[in-house]
Amino acid sequence: CGIVGYVGAQSALDVVIAGLKRLEYRGYDSAGVAVLADGELAAVKKAGKLVNLEKELVGHPLPAGSTGLGHTRWATHGGPTDVNAHPHLDNSGRVAVVHNGIIENFAALRAELAERGHRLESETDTEVVAHLLAERFEGAGGDLTEAMRQVCRQLDGAFTLVAVHADQPDVVVGARRNSPLVVGVGEGENFLASDVAAFIAHTRSAIELGQDQVVELRRDGVTVTNFDGSAANVRAYHVDWDASA
Ligand code: GLU
Repeated sequence: CGIVGYVGAQSALDVVIAGLKRLEYRGYDSAGVAVLADGELAAVKKAGKLVNLEKELVGHPLPAGSTGLGHTRWATHGGPTDVNAHPHLDNSGRVAVVHNGIIENFAALRAELAERGHRLESETDTEVVAHLLAERFEGAGGDLTEAMRQVCRQLDGAFTLVAVHADQPDVVVGARRNSPLVVGVGEGENFLASDVAAFIAHTRSAIELGQDQVVELRRDGVTVTNFDGSAANVRAYHVDWDASA
């Protein structure tokens, strides 16, 4: 339902939680965050409101990191439980993904992954993406952006996806088809969100992702390509509506 991604110099956890709070008006049933720190990925997720997640984070604090993502979920596949909350990780625990929308062909993808030895733990349509990204990451020579383009070409349905990989600690990758995703362009930091409300406290400079596009975010740059790998036309604009709205 709500998605926030961040790479920069600030605490990713603080930026992501504050961003998710700005998206609470959309309604949701669970929430979660993942942070990359010291080459490792750490995630916490919880059914219920963000206050439940924040309580959980007191008991299970995440290490300080400046790359991260977060999600508020409105369940479509699988009930609103801790396990079904996003982010979803692959079996190595190196990839984390959050998702808005529905992946129509998840059952077939899930069966294929199970045949290849993957253990899927949730009832969501989303979890297949974490496993597929982990596989493709190896094949793509450790390039999460290329892995994302390959995986997106396999997916049917409407989706916004944001992912990180522990082997690329300064990269956040986003993708979209029939579901919104906006880049917030900062100085030495960049943001991804399903709605500009999540980042306007930090920057008013935005790029709206087009249909079937993938974005790679680093601290110092943003690269947008189409699912087929070709360079994409991007629409950059200034967000001028009232931040207090
Ligand atoms: N279909 C996904 C799920 O049920 C994502 C739902 C959403 O957009 O929040 O977990």
